[in-house]
Amino acid sequence: MVKLILTNKVLNQPVDLSKAVIQPIFSDLLREKDIAMDVLRLDRVHPVISGNKWFKLKYHLQEALKQNKKGILTFGGAWSNHLVATAFACHQAGLASIGIIRGEKPVVLSDTLREVQQYNMQLQFISRAAYSNESAIIPALQIEYPEYFIVPQGAQSALGVQGAAEILQLAQIESYSHISCAAGTGTMLAGLACAALPHQQVIGICSLKLPPGEHNSLNTLVQPYAANKKNYTIFYDYHFGGYARKTDELIRFMNTIYQQHDLPTDFVYTGKLLFGMLNLVKTGYFQPGSRILVVHSGGLQGNRSLPAGTLTFL
Ligand SMILES: *Cc1c(COP(=O)(O)O)cnc(C)c1O
Repeated sequence: MVKLILTNKVLNQPVDLSKAVIQPIFSDLLREKDIAMDVLRLDRVHPVISGNKWFKLKYHLQEALKQNKKGILTFGGAWSNHLVATAFACHQAGLASIGIIRGEKPVVLSDTLREVQQYNMQLQFISRAAYSNESAIIPALQIEYPEYFIVPQGAQSALGVQGAAEILQLAQIESYSHISCAAGTGTMLAGLACAALPHQQVIGICSLKLPPGEHNSLNTLVQPYAANKKNYTIFYDYHFGGYARKTDELIRFMNTIYQQHDLPTDFVYTGKLLFGMLNLVKTGYFQPGSRILVVHSGGLQGNRSLPAGTLTFL
C-alpha cells in the first residue's frame, strides 16, 4: 500500500492518535470462556473528527489539496458522524465544504447540522425523489461544483479503505486472533480485512438490516479488498431493527457497559458492535484462548439525537 505524505496543513490537524488507547475488558463471562477482549478507543482521538472518520477522510483531504480544489462536497444525514468530521477537517485544512442532505430542509436543524454550519459547511437539501441514489446525482453535482472534490457518503472509496487500513498501525496486533468492528458502508471493515495478518479473522457487526449472504451491498464492497475471501465474517443479527434503530434492550446494554467498564458507546454502531461481540462470546462462537481486538469507531456525538436521560452518560 502506497504511503502518501500529508501536507503540513493537514498534518496540523489536532487529531491525537496517541489517545487511541487499548482498554482491556474484564468480566466474568470473558474469564469463564477464557477469552481476552481489548477495545481500541478511536473515539478518543478527537472530540469532533472522531473514530474511524479521520482515517477514512485523510486521503480524500490530501487528494483535494493536491488537486487544488476549493473544497470538499459530501453527503450525510441529520446526525451524520461523517458530515461533522468532514466539516471540521475541511475547516482545519483551509478547505471549504458542502454537505448534501437527503430530504427537505427541516424547520429546526439537528444539533449535528447546526454544528457543521459552525465549521462553515454549506448545506444543500435535495428532495428524496431527486436523490434516489448517490451515483445518479454525483455527475450533476460535479458539473455544478467543479471546484469541489466529491467524497462519497461514508467516504466509501478506495481512498477511504486505504485510510481505514491504517487503523491497525495503532496497535501491536500480532497477538490477536480476531479483530472486529461495526459495519455501515463496510469501508472500515474492508480496510481491516486488508490490513489483518494471515492468522487473523476479522469480524464485522452489521449495523443495518441487510439480507445475509454474498450479494448484499456490504459484502460486495468488502470482498474485493479482503486479503482473502475467508479472512472476514459479517454478522447480520445485531441491527436492532435497522440503521439508527434501537430497542430498550440495546439502551440498557449500553448503560450497563458504561457503568461496568467506563466505556461509552453510540446506539448506531458501537453499542450494537459490543452487544454482538459479547453475544458471540456467550454463545460459544470463539474458541477458548481467543484474543479479540474490538475497534471502537467513535460516533458518540450521534447520541445527541436521543431524548435527554435515555443514556446515563453523555
Ligand atoms: C461511520 C461509522 C461507522 C461505519 O463505518 P463504515 O466504514 O461506513 O462501515 C462505524 N462506526 C462509527 C462510530 C461510525 O461513525
